[in-house]
Amino acid sequence: MSHQPFENWIIAGEHLPPEDQNRLKEHLADCPQCRQLKCNLQAVHTRLAASSQIEPVEGFSQRWQTTLQERLAERQSKQVLQVRRFFLYIGTATILSLVLLITMILAGGEWIDRLTATAIRLQTFNQWTIEAQDFLFAVLHITPPVLPLTLWILLSTVFSILALVWIVSVWRITIQGVKSK
Ligand SMILES: [Zn+2]
Repeated sequence: MSHQPFENWIIAGEHLPPEDQNRLKEHLADCPQCRQLKCNLQAVHTRLAASSQIEPVEGFSQRWQTTLQERLAERQSKQVLQVRRFFLYIGTATILSLVLLITMILAGGEWIDRLTATAIRLQTFNQWTIEAQDFLFAVLHITPPVLPLTLWILLSTVFSILALVWIVSVWRITIQGVKSK
């Protein structure tokens, strides 16, 4: 005996057209297996309907909502701080390196000695710059180009202005982006 499509109809539990309903009734009268299936499914539905949902503790949702707002605000202010700190570091590093570069170009060895004596970090940076420069020139197998002083100053100024404009614009966009959320 074939139990299809009756098994599917029983499991789906949908309302059938009268013709199919009659076919199902006739099959159920003859087939103990499908009768058992229908009986079991009904028992499952009854138990599911009878089991009650566990209610949350009183005020839970409200507390959760309140702390959610607090958590979001906290995270937002943390993000703003992080972004600000990040751009502050970049800005400081840019300005310091530019100042160092201009000082190197303008003053030469004597001023560099005084500068490095007072700031170890700047000295490290200075050495690193010189080493990087030497390395670059060694790799390129060329002698350092002798550029006019005015050209160096002009280039540094243009680059510093561009860097500052870039930093400020990215900062503003980022802060606005965080706030508008
Ligand atoms: Zn059957």
